[in-house]
Amino acid sequence: MRQVALVTGGGRGIGEVIARALARKGMRVAVVARTVSDIERVAAAIREEGGQALSVVCDVTRPDAIAAAVAEVQRAFGPITVLVNNAGAADSHKFLGHPDALWHRMIDANLNSVYYVTKAVVPMMVEARWGRIINIASIASKIGGKYVVAYTASKHGVLGLTRALAVELVAYNITVNAICPGYVDTPMTDRAITNIAARTRMSEVEVRATLEKLSLQNRLITPEEVAHVALMLVDDEARGITGQAINVDGGAVMF
Ligand code: NDP
Repeated sequence: MRQVALVTGGGRGIGEVIARALARKGMRVAVVARTVSDIERVAAAIREEGGQALSVVCDVTRPDAIAAAVAEVQRAFGPITVLVNNAGAADSHKFLGHPDALWHRMIDANLNSVYYVTKAVVPMMVEARWGRIINIASIASKIGGKYVVAYTASKHGVLGLTRALAVELVAYNITVNAICPGYVDTPMTDRAITNIAARTRMSEVEVRATLEKLSLQNRLITPEEVAHVALMLVDDEARGITGQAINVDGGAVMF
């Protein structure tokens, strides 16, 4: 069967590389995000490589928009059997004086979005009696960090959702896993570096070097390394892997 994949946050960074990799594997891919120019660029790149792609504008924090997006993908490509919940946001603030709006924004973007999109897509996988759900979590799903209370709580939540759902969906041949990257070389990390440099006396070069040192390998992870694990998880031979949280972090976290 030719699989249909939906990748949230497919317009840039990790999501773009995963979307393109799944298309190269022969899947029809729906590239979902809010910025039209980004998703159209990625979909066009997939088509240029001979693949099939659909760009779908959707804010994954809005259930109504998700319902419309999922229906559009199903009409164009058929039932979705591979879901990559990758869209996310990472803003930081110290806990003293933490803005409530920031808390809600992080929970919405990183956790509620995964809940809503998965809820909209899972019935198709249950019907197909086959599915792959891959949640792009973070090492912040496993450890705490300074100034990232909201992001950390949201990503810990993604891990809880992953594990509970793996148990509930096992009877339908649906696997549910999380990938937990350390700092990845993407626009999100570029923004984090700029923000940290603006708040400290460090230059952007120094901040980048500090983030690199968080990995035992003294480097940032590439989006391709994260995509490699996602590709592995969609294979039929990966059917025994479910409820897992796989770190891609140069050995920074060992559980
Ligand atoms: P980027 O900021 O580079 O890309 C994020 C993507 O998500 C964009 O396409 C963005 O598009 C989309 N997105 C964000 N919010 C929404 C929304 N509400 N609705 C729809 N799409 C949305 O991030 P990365 O590629 O670096 O990160 C991808 C995932 O990996 C995130 O979940 C992140 O938390 C996680 N991660 C990243 C790490 C890193 O170091 N970069 C480390 C560990 C985990 P648009 O704004 O146009 O909607």
